[in-house]
Amino acid sequence: MRIGQGYDVHRLESGRKLILGGVEIPFEKGLLGHSDADAVCHALTDAVLGAAGLGSIGQHFPNTDPCYKGISSLILLKQAYILAQKAGYTLGNADVVIMAEAPKLMPHVPHMLATLTTALELPAHALHIKATTHEGLGAIGRGEGIAVSAVCLLVPI
Ligand code: MG
Repeated sequence: MRIGQGYDVHRLESGRKLILGGVEIPFEKGLLGHSDADAVCHALTDAVLGAAGLGSIGQHFPNTDPCYKGISSLILLKQAYILAQKAGYTLGNADVVIMAEAPKLMPHVPHMLATLTTALELPAHALHIKATTHEGLGAIGRGEGIAVSAVCLLVPI
């Protein structure tokens, strides 16, 4: 078995859609980034790539490449998971923590789980997502951005 971790932060800005876990969440701001800035998918992608020993999201999908501009990060996550599968691994399970002061995310978690498990063709019990605030502390606590941490376990196919 191989363990991997991923961590991602994006700044919240007006005029952007808020996409997390492949789901559009109603909010007055969205995450800023070259892609759709879905920090859940980015953290999971890095966890999967790390566990497989295949580098990082920035190496595979550079944010200087115009072909990734505005792309759904679900596509990047799927591509990373295909690379891990080609290396001989399948996802045992993954656990994700979203750190956001606002909006309230727990009501959207079931939709995120359904979207991600469908995209990766995973059983429901393979993925877990939870959300927490930073209790008003630091940049995340001031609502300037959203951070996501993910760990995953890859097991041999
Ligand atoms: Mg990112």
